Parts: sequence; structure tokens; C-alpha cells
Amino acid sequence: MDFGQLKSKRRTLSSAFNVNPEIKKSVNLDGVNGFHSFYKMPPSGSITLQQFEYYALERLKVLKAIELNNVLKGKKFKEYCDEMRDEFRNLGWQFLCTDRLSKEDEEKDLVSHHILRLAYAKSEGKRQWFITQETELLKLRMMFSNSLLNRLLEVNQLSSNQVPAEEINELTDELRGCQTGFNMANAVYYKVDFEEVLQLVSSRKVYLSQGYAYLPASELQSFVLNKYKIHLKEQLAMACKLMPGLEEENRIMRQLKALSGGDLGTGYTTKAVGDKITCDMLDQLSLRSYPLCMQTLHNHIKVKHHAKHEGRMQYGLFLKGMGVSLEESLKYWRTQFCKGGIDTEKFDKTYAYNVRHNYGKEGKRADYSPFSCLKIISSSEPKGDECHGCPYKHSDELSLRHLLEKRKISAEATEEILGLKRQGHYQVACMSLFKATHPKEGLHGGLQHPNQYFEESQTILSGNSETSDSKMTADSSEKETAGKSNDNKENIQDIEDEFDDEM
Ligand code: SF4
Repeated sequence: MDFGQLKSKRRTLSSAFNVNPEIKKSVNLDGVNGFHSFYKMPPSGSITLQQFEYYALERLKVLKAIELNNVLKGKKFKEYCDEMRDEFRNLGWQFLCTDRLSKEDEEKDLVSHHILRLAYAKSEGKRQWFITQETELLKLRMMFSNSLLNRLLEVNQLSSNQVPAEEINELTDELRGCQTGFNMANAVYYKVDFEEVLQLVSSRKVYLSQGYAYLPASELQSFVLNKYKIHLKEQLAMACKLMPGLEEENRIMRQLKALSGGDLGTGYTTKAVGDKITCDMLDQLSLRSYPLCMQTLHNHIKVKHHAKHEGRMQYGLFLKGMGVSLEESLKYWRTQFCKGGIDTEKFDKTYAYNVRHNYGKEGKRADYSPFSCLKIISSSEPKGDECHGCPYKHSDELSLRHLLEKRKISAEATEEILGLKRQGHYQVACMSLFKATHPKEGLHGGLQHPNQYFEESQTILSGNSETSDSKMTADSSEKETAGKSNDNKENIQDIEDEFDDEM
């Protein structure tokens, strides 16, 4: 994949990228001074398609971790920095916290940034998201590094604009008037175009003379961040204009589109199916380990003995992802639908095909993956008797509050979740529920998939943090069923009451 020719709008993507998966040439890193995201010309060189995908997904995880930590703010700055440092280390991006980058790290940094620039160029909302996370990433990197700020000043040719000591001497009164705590002994100023620091100009925090603002060294970091934001905005707008010329290479465009959806979990690997989870265990598992979307579907089917097509797909594939065998799935759906008045013959004729289809036994015989959060969140809004979707996105506030009350979480956690819903942070809201219902433990590295929620819940509840093997968790579910049956009956009764109210 050759990055270098992307700058030409008229070229097709197939000529702009060398997509031969055998090629492994390193990317040109000349003249970029260790930090690459300020580039104006696209990087050149070749990487394999596997690297393309790997780099992009890895950086997306970093940006998602930043977004998550920002959303759940309220921490002290040092605590925040420490957490992010740990997060970067866990994700294998510890080089973000150092000044010593290997060539491989630099390549990963540059290429992953470039791919996401392309992926997030398409719409204003996506551009804004990318700029916000990348700017925060640069801020953190400047915090962790001893030299990055200086290197960036060099890149932006700012170091040569340092105001000489004699001039500072002459302007002492004027500079003192603009800066509280001005100290002549360590006064360091830079001359910058006043248009680049309009915010500081309007708050009268900089001295102005002949079109230049005298920027104190203490404001340099925000100056660089602002410059970076503007730079990214321009570059993303430019990349957006290039995209129509790239549409014809579907494979690459599909990857870019998937990346910009932030979908880290489409390729969810279905657990090996077997006899580990049987359909009579689903009530118990749904109470303890289902995310709200799947719990809603399970309860709806339990009470109404029916689900529309979208709901059957969403829940059916989730069950498959949990490791429920085809036979058990058929048994589950048949039992439920027959309770609703559909006879076995009609079930086999009308609905069994879909269940077998999900397991790749009919039609194209494809191995369908369970739906990711992104897919569920962006699905059509459920109407009438439909019950698919993500409650954080698709339910109104009152209904969501009602659902949360059934989970018996604290008022504080309920308000936090509703606040996150209001701000559109649906997956983060879901993670908050996980945290509220799994004491001491949260989801690691963000939430992308309902089956991830289920597995991590089972891992925690079974007391084994090393594995999420379904057998072990299912076995432990069985053992605990006896002891908790009274609680569960109560909960199930609650759920049935809830649906009775609505019927
Ligand atoms: S965020 Fe994901 S797992 Fe949670 S309810 Fe929504 S779709 Fe389900």
C-alpha cells in the first residue's frame, strides 16, 4: 500500500496505494523530527494490508481510551495522567509516554494517524471527534515528554521567534500589565501572529505590537495545541475533498468506513458452541450478565412469546456468540413461540429457517457474527412491538430510568447513566451500568460488543479474571441457581409485572 500518491485527486486509489499484501517496505520518516502528525504532505512508502488494518485499529483503541477517560472526568489531573500512562502501556503504545521512539514506533504512529485522518475526513461530526481526541493525545504526549514541546516549536519555526532580552527589558511595563505574576528574572516571550492567539488577545492576556502578540512561555503549550487543531481541521477538510477520487477501491474504502464508525468489534469471534449453555440457563444468565439491550429482548420474548425479525436477529446472534448450540437455540425459540400460540409446524416452517440461517446452515451458509454495539446503536429505531436496538440510544429517558430501577442500582449511578445518555455516550453509559452491577470491576479497554459485556461479566462473577470460558461460567451459574432462586423469582416477577403494565 503506497501512501505517497494520495495527494493527487485524479489518481484512483488502486494506483495511489500499492495493495500487494506481500510488500513490506518501511514508510519514509525523513525530516519529521520524531513527531509526525503535523505533516502537510502525506507519508510515502508501502505497508501491507494487514498492517494497514492493524495500525488503524490499534490507534483507534488509543483514541477511544482517551475519549472514555475524558467523559468520565472528575479526576485530579495527575491521576488522569497516571491512568492514561497505564492505559497506553496496556495497549502496547508506551512509546507515547517517552522521547525514545524506535523507527517501528514512529512508523506505527505516523501511519495509524494518517489512516484515521482519511477514515474520519468524511463528515463534520467525525472530523470533530478525531480532532478532539488527537489534540488531547498531543497534550498528554507533551506532558509525558521532556522535549516534545521544543521539537514542535522547531517544526513550527517558533524557536527563532523568541523575543531578545533587551526588547523584554524595554517592554517590561507593557508585558507586566498583561501577565499576572510577571517576573523579569525568568521572562521568556515569543512573537507570534496575533491571529493565531485570538482568544488570548480578546482576554487581554498578551501584549500586541505591529500585528504581533507577545506570547509568554507559559502559554506555549496551548498555542501549539491550538495550531495543531487548526492544522488538523485544514488537513481533514482537504482529505475529504480527495475522497471521491478514491471511491473505486472498495476494499480500502470499506475498511476506512468501518474504522470511522469506531467499530472495534464487528469481527466478534463466536464461542465454540456445544452443550455448555442450555436454554434453561438463559433466565439466570440474563439477570446477571446480559447488557440492557439483550436483557430487554430476553424479557420481551419471555413475556410476549414473540419478537419481530430485527429483534430475533439481534438476540439470536447474541446467543450464538455466547456459545449456545443450534439445537438449544431452536429449542429456546420454539418453546417461546409455541407458548405464544404458534404451533410447532408453523414454527418449523416460518421461523426455524432464520435460526438455522444465523448458524450458517441455510442460504449462503455464511458464518454470521453477532451484532456489535455500533451496529445496534445505529440500527433503525424500534417501532410498535419491535424490541431491538440499544436502550441507551433508542429508549426515552423515562423508559430507561424505569429499566435501570429494575436493576436496583444506586440513585447516583442512575443519574450518571442518564446524564451519559443525554450526552450521547451510549457505550459509556452501558459501562457505567456494568460497573454499578459488578462491584470493584469495570470493563477493560472500553465496550464494543454485547458479547464482550456478557463474557467479562461471567469472568468476574465466576471469580476468574484469566479466562472467560463459557463452560466454567455456565457451571458456576448452575451452582448458584439454587441459592439465588428466590431472588431471581422476585426479579423475574418484577420483569413480568413491567411488561404486564405495558400490555
Ligand atoms: S451499549 Fe452495546 S451492549 Fe450496551 S446496551 Fe447498547 S448495544 Fe447493548
